[in-house]
Amino acid sequence: MNKRLHLSIAHMGNNEQKYVQEAFDQNWVAPLGPNVDKFEEVVAEYSERKAAAALSSGTSGLHLALKLLDVQQGDAVFCSSLTFIASANPIVYEKATPVFIDSERDTWNMSPLALERALKEAAEAGQLPKAVIIVNLYGQVAKMDELIALCDSYDVPVIEDSAESLGSLYKGRKSGSFGKFSVFSFNGNKIITTSGGGMLLADDEELIKKARFLSTQARDAALHYQHSEIGYNYRMSNVCAGIGRGQMEVLEDRVKRRREIFDMYARELKDVKGISLMPELEGTKSNRWLTAMTIDSELTHVTPVELIEKLAEDNIESRPVWKPLHLQPVFEGTKFYPHDEDVAKYLFENGICLPSASIMTDEDVIFVCERVKAVLSVEHVNQ
Ligand SMILES: *Cc1c(COP(=O)(O)O)cnc(C)c1O
Repeated sequence: MNKRLHLSIAHMGNNEQKYVQEAFDQNWVAPLGPNVDKFEEVVAEYSERKAAAALSSGTSGLHLALKLLDVQQGDAVFCSSLTFIASANPIVYEKATPVFIDSERDTWNMSPLALERALKEAAEAGQLPKAVIIVNLYGQVAKMDELIALCDSYDVPVIEDSAESLGSLYKGRKSGSFGKFSVFSFNGNKIITTSGGGMLLADDEELIKKARFLSTQARDAALHYQHSEIGYNYRMSNVCAGIGRGQMEVLEDRVKRRREIFDMYARELKDVKGISLMPELEGTKSNRWLTAMTIDSELTHVTPVELIEKLAEDNIESRPVWKPLHLQPVFEGTKFYPHDEDVAKYLFENGICLPSASIMTDEDVIFVCERVKAVLSVEHVNQ
């Protein structure tokens, strides 16, 4: 059996252990400490943001963003449908009502057409959402100009869920710099990791101060333990932040490698009829966190699930595209605004993500391509 080829896996650089060692040497093993401060500073500067709060997860970042926007029971919050469920769970934590917005074909992200319809209807019904969560799928930034202009015209704040898109660009601007808040995840499967963690970013330093307060049990400035608000235990530890500092030093290398892997797939699979790789919107640069593609089963005579099962026989991990949230049993009956036909559903039913870990060698990628081609049993025209 060959070695396992993962969709995405941790890939350490040279200095992570050094920063973790510093935390041990200074006995800053508890939450907070110099690594946390430095990590926040580095990520905020990289992301063209004024302030950042290092947290225990991306999910907690989204949750605090909703808290800071005063989302309350019964409020509506719009969210991309084609995403990991963590994008929407915090809406439910606050007993607010999610409304799901479809994808469009150019980016696989939130459709401006569907968002426009949803906002118009909400305004007419007198129930504009408290926030719109825009997700950047697999590293591709959504059509921010169009989406943010729409939200601005109704005065609705945007949260950029950039959990998958650290290192991506949109018209020269960094992902994570859009909206009132943005959120990164440093979970083990993301482009860089702190072994679990996240960050909330904004340009309003007061809001980030408040986020730090809420993430450390909302303790008032008093000697005794006094609390006037309910808080959370959401802060990142100084040990994890040390890993993050080391990881930020190799972020550009990781983006470069993930893009190379995508390009290799594109090159090797270009003559296979029925395969279309995820597009990249003009003027944007995706970090290509995951290489995703759709397959037209009428041409390939193989469904995505059959391909995934076949690849698993060779110890290759591949997965369907995220199951859209409006199709999840837990969100049954939730309002959904389609693009024209249901694009998210199409991408889910026909999409597949290939191993994209930055530790993969060229030979690993070629091996996956050979197995894909063998399963689809097509002649490679150029060879
Ligand atoms: C990973 C992810 C999250 C959640 O991040 P965690 O750090 O795992 O809590 C949120 N949104 C998207 C789109 C993600 O991919």
